[in-house]
Amino acid sequence: MSPAYPDTQLLIDGQWQDAAGGKKIPVHNPATGAVIGHVAHASKADLDRALAAAAKGFAIWKHTSAHDRQAAMRRAAALLKERADTIAALLTQEQGKPLAEAKGEVLAGVGIIEWFADEALRLYGRIVPARRGDVQQLVIKEPVGPVAAFTPWNFPVNQIVRKISAALATGCSFLCKAPEETPASPAALFQCFVDAGVPAGVIGLVYGDPHEISSYLIPHPVIRKITFTGSTPVGKQLAALAGAHMKRCTMELGGHAPVIVAEDADVELAVKSAGAAKLRNAGQVCISPTRFLVHQSLQQQFTEQVVAYFASIKVGNGLEADSKMGPLANPRRVTAMQSLVANAQDKGAKLLMGGQTLGDAGNFYAPTILADVPLDAEVFNNEPFGPMIAMRSFDKLEEAIAEANRLPYGLAAYAFTASLKNAHLLSQHVESGMLWINQPAVASAEMPFGGVKDSGYGSEGGTEALEAYLIPKAVSIAMV
Ligand code: NAD
Repeated sequence: MSPAYPDTQLLIDGQWQDAAGGKKIPVHNPATGAVIGHVAHASKADLDRALAAAAKGFAIWKHTSAHDRQAAMRRAAALLKERADTIAALLTQEQGKPLAEAKGEVLAGVGIIEWFADEALRLYGRIVPARRGDVQQLVIKEPVGPVAAFTPWNFPVNQIVRKISAALATGCSFLCKAPEETPASPAALFQCFVDAGVPAGVIGLVYGDPHEISSYLIPHPVIRKITFTGSTPVGKQLAALAGAHMKRCTMELGGHAPVIVAEDADVELAVKSAGAAKLRNAGQVCISPTRFLVHQSLQQQFTEQVVAYFASIKVGNGLEADSKMGPLANPRRVTAMQSLVANAQDKGAKLLMGGQTLGDAGNFYAPTILADVPLDAEVFNNEPFGPMIAMRSFDKLEEAIAEANRLPYGLAAYAFTASLKNAHLLSQHVESGMLWINQPAVASAEMPFGGVKDSGYGSEGGTEALEAYLIPKAVSIAMV
């Protein structure tokens, strides 16, 4: 049986509490539309207390040894693992994804926290030979300061995990505005860190009006770094505000991933990898494969196989064991799918399957395949963020690469080819932060995760993710 869905409070200075004015926001189950709980809506007074706590927390955590930070993070990871079933059930109730995917998200989070915890022990500075014999020059890596993080609803746990792990490993305090639509699983994640002994103030969690909170936190002098995951338009607004106040930032924004299926591709592998990746989290993934560019000689074979694969997917309530795809997370996404399909059909695309809502309740939308999609159809230009494939064919690989690079996005890209020459060409010419060849996306903690162009800047994986939370301090000491 699923755990009862709780109301969610704010975490300020180590205490869970209601908002100062008592204001709350309802939380819906996307599979039924029912209100299942409420989340506290922070006021300015709450934010002021959270900021003061973050300043106090930074003073403590910055001087906590790397070994102690690592140990606390590893304890939090162990608790997260222990509580994975309960947290996954909360996540499915508020976000909709199938239980197995929710549990996979939580367990992936465990691995990410552990990897970053261990990296805390390897945040080396360096000693640089000086120009005088009696001088020693040191480059010391210091934590940048209190971080303000803004995370979205598509991976309520893991979008926070990547950010909190890098912040805590480097010695920063961390104040997060998590998604109001999916608040309980983030709170359960934070509880793991509290129970692991992370001191009061080092981590804080608030919810409320996203615009109000970001416009207050980003300029605030206590905050030294911003990290945001979400849409490109919102990311540009927040990055501009951060720039106006000289705050460092990491922006993980939208994508529109091309999938290039070259003439010599293994079609079965392409369908199994990219087709399955498309329906993960009902397509609400920033690295979701979207523009399928299939060599014309394989078009028929690929289409038959991907249609058969999509038809085999059981869509249903994520709590039911046989559901392979859940509802969309909110009604906005359903409206977006309807408008993209209508626009594509108007422009002359063929609807091969899907294109409709399912059932009488909740935000269910059928896996959808559009073929022969004109380049000016919206779905070929704007991120669908839903269970939708848009296909076109190509003749020469160079054409496919040019199409892959046509959009302002540059987050993820996928390609399938048996040729080493093609693989090299693709790796040299596709403009994206991440490229997976002959495999589905593997977003591992140790590899950089981030985009180029309108998909943002900075990385949420690999040692690059830690550098984003560190500042080099040059210290030169002369003998006296
Ligand atoms: P949205 O642009 O309104 O919101 C996206 C996220 O940003 C949400 O979590 C929201 O709370 C937050 N947000 C919005 N305005 C903000 C502000 N002024 N300050 C701080 N945070 C703010 O869109 P949406 O309808 O929630 O999601 C739709 C689009 O968002 C998708 O099409 C996709 O492009 C993008 N998105 C991307 C990711 C990702 O992983 N990169 C995740 C979720 C949504």
